Amino acid sequence: NMSHEIRTPMNGVIGMSGLLVDMGLTPEQKECAEIVRRSAEALLTVINDVLDYSKMEAGKMRIESYPFDLRLVIEEVAEMLAPKLEERHLDLVLEYPPHLPRHFVGDAGRIRQVTTNLLGNAVKFTQAGQVLIAVSCTARDGGHPELRVSIKDTGDGIPEEKAGLLFQKFSQVDGSATRRHGGTGLGLAISRQLVELMGGHIGVDSRQGEGSTFWFVLSLPLDPNPPSVPAPPAELRGLRALIVDDNEVNRRVLNEQIAHWGMRNGSFCPAEEVAAVL
Ligand code: ADP
Repeated sequence: NMSHEIRTPMNGVIGMSGLLVDMGLTPEQKECAEIVRRSAEALLTVINDVLDYSKMEAGKMRIESYPFDLRLVIEEVAEMLAPKLEERHLDLVLEYPPHLPRHFVGDAGRIRQVTTNLLGNAVKFTQAGQVLIAVSCTARDGGHPELRVSIKDTGDGIPEEKAGLLFQKFSQVDGSATRRHGGTGLGLAISRQLVELMGGHIGVDSRQGEGSTFWFVLSLPLDPNPPSVPAPPAELRGLRALIVDDNEVNRRVLNEQIAHWGMRNGSFCPAEEVAAVL
């Protein structure tokens, strides 16, 4: 009930201030309306976190189970955060090896929420460089395969003594940085609770100044009736491709992808050397 009562008027504030901005206001009025809209959006994020957290504390969070496409979920999260990455000139690389299964049974909505939080943080706390999302999957005898999603950034990193605390509620490494970026210190606490409710675990490997890798591991059943994935277009088979990208991980991921389509190994090289091989 509270959730409905609080969110409904917030949607009114956000929706109407969004319309107001385009109503031919004077520059000063427009600036005020934009601040109202931005503040309302920030407040809604806080409200959503607090509501989620209290729902979990009350033991009312239910984990659902239905077939979903993990690769698609991760691609959608990446797409949603793409404008922010672009704004900050960060590269985003998704490493989802083509031979890995992608159709599982689980709570895609909650997996999306955790991934969004980890990727959102990676973008927020990285000034330059790249963010790599890597997925791996290990088969286990007699059990469901174990999935590992890791999000590695080249950002500020986290001092060792603080890393253990981050998954507790309201804990942040640096209050001033967070005031700059916004945030409640609830995201990781919520993510941990969600991952544990799904029977998995979550953690971070990081050193200050050397970036961080946040990861979560889940054991999920494979979808017994996965939708058939369309075969790679036949006309690509045997074609030769030249991959040019200054990002080494990107070259490797693309190379793996095109090899999976039956294309011939892309010879990759830095842009300056392209002319020589053409
Ligand atoms: P919020 O982002 O709202 O502050 P979180 O619980 O998601 O809350 O994160 C808690 C704190 O953990 C952040 O304030 C930040 O200090 C630290 N943190 C999280 N992710 C990263 C990251 N990728 N790099 C550096 N610090 C991080």
